[in-house]
Amino acid sequence: MSAAPETSRGTIMWWGFTRRCPRCGSGHLFHHYLAMVPDCPRCRLHFEREPGYFAGALAINIMATGGLFAVSFVVALALTIPEIPVVPLLLILVPIALFGPILFYPFSKTIWIAVDRGYLQRLDPSERADEHFGRKPGGRGPGG
Ligand SMILES: [Zn+2]
Repeated sequence: MSAAPETSRGTIMWWGFTRRCPRCGSGHLFHHYLAMVPDCPRCRLHFEREPGYFAGALAINIMATGGLFAVSFVVALALTIPEIPVVPLLLILVPIALFGPILFYPFSKTIWIAVDRGYLQRLDPSERADEHFGRKPGGRGPGG
């Protein structure tokens, strides 16, 4: 009789940053670059626990891409002041602002799920039972 070993928070976060399932580490969580599967193909973890669940992913995406934009802007200004090259700067910063959130979108989702599972989640008893077996017996999760 062996229970599944507890996954460390570092491992959970690493799986999140590498677009893998934060429960089992499986990849292949996206149909296309932006389209995430509803459940993990290996452990059947249902990712969107409730409506609005991915608002946290939106916040992570805004912080990451906004942070990259702000740091790039400040560093470029600090390095070039007083002769600021406006056009080259725009050629770098505008694509960061436009495409950064799109490129980071899948990572923000898996990172959010990892943060939720690693640090925020307090499972109710039926969800805790599902964790032991690794699969949800029914089609729907509790509270859904
Ligand atoms: Zn999984």
